[in-house]
Amino acid sequence: MNPVLADLPTTIFTVMSGLARELGAINLGQGFPDDPGPEDVRRRAAEAILHGDNQYPPMMGLPGLRRAIAAHYAHHQELDLDPAAEVMVTSGATEAIAAALLALIAPGDEVVLFAPLYDAYLPLVRRAGGVARIVPLQPPHFRLDADALAEAFSDRTKLVVLNNPLNPSATIFGREDLALLASFCTRHDVVAICDEVWEHIVFDGARHIPLMALPGMRDRTVKIGSAGKIFGLTGWKVGFVMAAPALLRVVANAHQFLTFTTPPALQEAVAYGLAKDDAYFTGMRARFAASRDHLATGLAARGFRVLPSHGTYFLNVDLAPLGCNDDVAFCDDLVRRHGVAAIPISAFYPDASVRHLMRLCFAKADDVLDRALDRLATVA
Ligand code: GLN
Repeated sequence: MNPVLADLPTTIFTVMSGLARELGAINLGQGFPDDPGPEDVRRRAAEAILHGDNQYPPMMGLPGLRRAIAAHYAHHQELDLDPAAEVMVTSGATEAIAAALLALIAPGDEVVLFAPLYDAYLPLVRRAGGVARIVPLQPPHFRLDADALAEAFSDRTKLVVLNNPLNPSATIFGREDLALLASFCTRHDVVAICDEVWEHIVFDGARHIPLMALPGMRDRTVKIGSAGKIFGLTGWKVGFVMAAPALLRVVANAHQFLTFTTPPALQEAVAYGLAKDDAYFTGMRARFAASRDHLATGLAARGFRVLPSHGTYFLNVDLAPLGCNDDVAFCDDLVRRHGVAAIPISAFYPDASVRHLMRLCFAKADDVLDRALDRLATVA
């Protein structure tokens, strides 16, 4: 096969959303809420488009947004970030990840990744010339393991990429896992890119711990966040990168050649939204947790085994009790014959070693979830 095609396959999200559209299926595949998002934030963007400046904003982001981001993380995660030197705005978290990988990998550098891995990571690492060392995490707990880390890290390791909370497993790395990873990063002098886009969407009283806050990690972590996730406005593509000045400068040099900047009206609206009070964030978590419970209870009542979801918009269904060990075939059949789109988890394991789970997005109105449950009733 043409090496470009092999390296840059069509993402599972495009594939499943395409099938859902074509077949008129209920799309519980690609993760996005069906709710329109906070009206005041959207209104703010509309007003900024009509009455504000629509020319190139500064490459690093609007100063007001950079200040709002620093204030937001000071309040929610007790981080002390200098908005002028340690915060940059990007066109979505995926751009932030791409900028960080392009900036920090020299050809031949080893990069430690964990599977399940978000499908953008590996093609970007490889295109940047990195050599991926993939550590598979095992369901249902998806915890880090000291022996596996010891095998993956070496003198050649330059970077590690962690997603916390973890999509698609809907698990959270707590202090113990993070401390273990931090010990490897400090021992091997490795920079960590921590994709924390789900940081606000954690349930049952869990608290997100930023990797950057672990001892020894402040100056070696590139933290990535997403306004699309914080406000349920996934199409806005406004992301943030936070890192110590020397690290951020290098990432900014890559960002300037990728998108250079991000629509100013959206930046203004995000700056406004980030200052929302705690009630907004607790309310959002409570609504998502209620949707999670609605879908999980409905699935269990219809004979499915559901894995616990501690964060993100997702939950996983174990297909093994249904005698299935081919999630791709299962999801293909599900969308074609039953009209529900899901994501096969093997898409997140480059060696397809885990093939008995499917991910469903519960960030939908109850009646949509109910219709999906009706369609699933005859499956299990
Ligand atoms: N983050 C979204 C998900 O996991 C997908 C984003 C995309 O479509 N590329 O569903």
